Amino acid sequence: MARQFDLIVLGGGSGGIALANRAASHGVKVALVEAGRLGGTCVNVGCVPKKIMWNTASIAHVFHEAGDYGFTARVERFDWGALKKSRDDYVAWLNGRYQAGLEKNRVDWIRGEGRLGGANEVAVNGERLQAAHVAIATGGRPVVPAWKGAGLGITSDGFFELERQPRRVAVVGAGYVAVELAGVFRALGSEVALVLRKESVLRSFDEMLQQAVMREMAADGIEIHTNAHVRELARADAGLTLRCAEGLEISGLDCVLWAVGRAPNTGALGLPAAGVQTDEAGHVLTDELQNTSIPGIYAVGDVTGREALTPVAIAAGRRLGDRLFGGQPDRKLEYANIPTVIFSHPPLGTVGLTEAQARSRYGDTVRAYRTEFTPLYYAFTRRKVKSAMKLVTVGDEQRIVGAHLFGPGSDEMLQGFAVAIRMGASKRDFDDTVAIHPTSAEELVTMR
Ligand code: FAD
Ligand code: NDP
Repeated sequence: MARQFDLIVLGGGSGGIALANRAASHGVKVALVEAGRLGGTCVNVGCVPKKIMWNTASIAHVFHEAGDYGFTARVERFDWGALKKSRDDYVAWLNGRYQAGLEKNRVDWIRGEGRLGGANEVAVNGERLQAAHVAIATGGRPVVPAWKGAGLGITSDGFFELERQPRRVAVVGAGYVAVELAGVFRALGSEVALVLRKESVLRSFDEMLQQAVMREMAADGIEIHTNAHVRELARADAGLTLRCAEGLEISGLDCVLWAVGRAPNTGALGLPAAGVQTDEAGHVLTDELQNTSIPGIYAVGDVTGREALTPVAIAAGRRLGDRLFGGQPDRKLEYANIPTVIFSHPPLGTVGLTEAQARSRYGDTVRAYRTEFTPLYYAFTRRKVKSAMKLVTVGDEQRIVGAHLFGPGSDEMLQGFAVAIRMGASKRDFDDTVAIHPTSAEELVTMR
């Protein structure tokens, strides 16, 4: 006899937990099936431990500048192992908070690997669960490339298991993870080589941001190798050696981190048998209401291949819960104008269209405003770090369709500007807003 629910959620990460809790708050009976640790990628091997490492790296940068601000400070030692221990403890505490939240909301949490057994059924630990609604929120995992010796390297998951700080690291990849983790290693004192197969990092971001972050990474001492295609990783007495097809060889490495993207966790879900359609990479195809190709089966979060960000997974999950059980039949997530930040050093943030995207969509009606400046914090120090900002506007009314920020504070600055842009703000609205001085943010309302 199968256990009966109104909703079964597969995956207890950002999207799955948000959906389960929201649905339960509407009074329905929910089961949440999670194979690993509650909280998923973000809590265990993503945003949370990453941000702790970014904070740590930012503190290292502050020590760098402390002398310029009159302090006589000498850092004796950085204890990677001690930090890892307290970071792990914090994550374990968060796992408990998520469990407590589910219990408070009366969600049945089942530990195990779930598999679809048809539109209304899930199999887990040899048991059958049934519900009119089933949601897939199984996220993704880092890709390990097929190159010879790739098993000698680690991925972002392995980064969070490192007990000791590697002395000499190569990071292969050009996206979020590559930029963020290369920056952390470098700020904490590792020698870092970043290996790109093309010319630049973050190629889907506005060109100004690509150039700005590459410039500061190089200034920080990260060796950037462009147009390099990895062929193999080998172990020798002096450490690991990374070899590229073009002849580049980097040796004496004690860590190689693959940051070449993520793959969806869908291979073992039984999707073909259930008739749920996926794209070539295995992402579950959904419409704008998170419906899959099979009525009664939905998907949210990274598994859908849409913007792979925690707040996106959470927002899609909560809106789906409201739509199915909260009497809001049209509730859905709008995927336009999603702000996002890369925790580089300094950070960068972006919302809306890049200048190139705007020009190809709106042609000559596009006007871009751009500024580059040394923020006061660094104007005063020996080490100079430049900020860069761009606003992209469209039409005679100069509606702002894109904002791109690089520099200290960009991470915290972007959220409010994203609200304004979502509301349809024009350049005139920005100009009419009184600046806050002295800040970097004031540059955004004083651009000419
Ligand atoms: P996940 O969080 O991956 O959860 C999926 C869950 O499903 C997992 O717990 C998994 O164990 C479980 N599962 C898989 N298969 C099964 C099965 N068959 N049965 C039961 N359970 C199953 N995003 C941000 O917004 N900001 C950041 O700063 C940020 N930093 C990141 C840093 C790193 C290093 C990485 C890798 C990602 C980062 N992200 C960040 C992205 C963010 O972590 C993801 O977008 C988010 O976790 C997606 O949530 P999800 O619910 O879709 O999937
Ligand atoms: P991304 O998709 O961001 O980047 C992967 C990059 O790897 C690609 O851009 C590609 O760059 C490069 N690449 C792909 N294949 C190869 C290859 N064979 N050889 C060399 N390089 C290759 O993936 P990430 O894993 O970095 O991050 C996954 C997602 O997680 C992000 O897209 C983001 O949504 C989320 N995330 C969010 C964070 C945040 O919000 N701060 C932080 C971390 C992750 P190219 O084509 O230019 O070579």
